[in-house]
Amino acid sequence: MIEKLKNIVGQRWVITDKERMIDYLTDETATPVKPKPATELVLVKPANSREVSKILKLANRDKIPVFPRGGGTGLCGGAIPTQNGIILSLERLKGIEIDRDNLMAIAEAGVTLKELVEKVEEQGLFFPPHPGDESAQVGGLVACNAGGSRALKYGVMRNYVKGIEAVLPTGEVLKLGGELLKNNTGYDLMHLIIGSEGTLAVVTRVILRLFPRVADSATMIIPYNNHHDAINTVPQILQSGFIPLTIEYMDRLSVEVSAENLGLEWPCKVGVAYLMVIVEGQSEEDVRSQCMSISEICTKYNGLEPLIGITRKEQEKVLKIRSNIYSALKRNLIADALDIAVPPASLGKLMDAIDRIASKFNTVIPLVGHAGDGNLHPTLMKDMAEDKEGNLKKAKREIYREALKLGGVMTGEHGLGKIRIADVDIFLDKKTMELMRGIKQVFDPNGILNPGCSIKNLPAALQRHRRE
Ligand SMILES: Cc1cc2nc3c(=O)[nH]c(=O)nc-3n(C[C@H](O)[C@H](O)[C@H](O)COP(=O)(O)OP(=O)(O)OC[C@H]3O[C@@H](n4cnc5c(N)ncnc54)[C@H](O)[C@@H]3O)c2cc1C
Repeated sequence: MIEKLKNIVGQRWVITDKERMIDYLTDETATPVKPKPATELVLVKPANSREVSKILKLANRDKIPVFPRGGGTGLCGGAIPTQNGIILSLERLKGIEIDRDNLMAIAEAGVTLKELVEKVEEQGLFFPPHPGDESAQVGGLVACNAGGSRALKYGVMRNYVKGIEAVLPTGEVLKLGGELLKNNTGYDLMHLIIGSEGTLAVVTRVILRLFPRVADSATMIIPYNNHHDAINTVPQILQSGFIPLTIEYMDRLSVEVSAENLGLEWPCKVGVAYLMVIVEGQSEEDVRSQCMSISEICTKYNGLEPLIGITRKEQEKVLKIRSNIYSALKRNLIADALDIAVPPASLGKLMDAIDRIASKFNTVIPLVGHAGDGNLHPTLMKDMAEDKEGNLKKAKREIYREALKLGGVMTGEHGLGKIRIADVDIFLDKKTMELMRGIKQVFDPNGILNPGCSIKNLPAALQRHRRE
């Protein structure tokens, strides 16, 4: 097989040496829950969709598992190759064009978020979605339907994808959608592929909607002496008629660990919990007036004196601290960072439930999240992974059950990957899972694409989980 792969992509792009493969065996999942990679793997780096097609045909014929891989920034083990087979890195697919007339970007799968943003901004345009790690690649962002802090105003990746070129496990190349704002032609296979985490097809090229750049923005930090007051202010802001770009919730522990890790100082001296609200507008005056109105709402709900960053430098500093929270906590503290989403007005109730669970398990559960979207990331700490009682799993399932009671889901933006699949039965009923298995069977009859991430593998995953 190795020789055949070399014939497809060239000798240089087939890697079997373990040392050179090491970065491709992992992702950004917290270490205590990170899946173990398999041992017999080959890393292949195709240059275009024709080569991807040939690789998949070969793998499908011989029933060899294939693990599509983007930037490896995923948080739930999605790209980790857990069975012997092929790691398919899309990093060489780097083409990008901007169509100014139609306000669209046409980007190949391996373009990073950083490269996309730079190219779009060069043209004076704006690509709204911005998940926290800019080394994520376009293919991975689409495969995970990534969100990020700006989803409150602008929505998630799904809202921006207008066309996809994807290669099926059987090697056929699908071209779905286009530079179109409307398309009602048959079942929407494009939206089925978005968020399918590399289990249905390999995304090779994407058409993304762009917007003109917004004139001005400001970042406010509103401190609170009580985290319930902070979270309960969020629905009040949303009901007031303002839609900020972002409403993020952060607790003091998380921001201080992150700031220290960066060698920076968290600019707020008071408060135990914070809302970070970013507003944007067509003029400085518009932005200032929104800040004033939001400050008044926060004060009414016990917010302390807000800190308002107007200059780009001030705004970048707090954003940097916010974006670094996961990486800073991950070093020594995180066992598992959850990704719960509930209806936004129920966040306060979710927080109460998480407090109760934390005290039951005699631990602390720091919280950060995209509060405006109802999407919270409770951080389960390493001490829980180290105890012998299985408390990490128990606490996690209790949080999931509380989320379910509130009409919520186990993952708002990170996806199931390989670490959440075993608990998916809490949220999906039998019929829904049956339909999902059927869809997987139609796209990938031999089950070669990203095994371990798919509902198709659920019975085995569940049995394993219940044994543990
Ligand atoms: C510090 C930090 C902050 C983050 N913040 C956010 C956030 O705010 N919001 C958010 O949603 N996520 C966030 N993430 C998670 C992560 O960045 C996203 O999930 C991102 O979409 C992953 O993209 P990737 O290219 O790194 O994919 P990878 O990690 O390489 O892969 C992720 C999944 O996509 C599949 N895949 C990758 N490329 C393709 C392809 N071309 N075709 C088919 N399948 C493919 C893989 O098989 C895997 O299942 C954050 C991660 C970090 C480390």
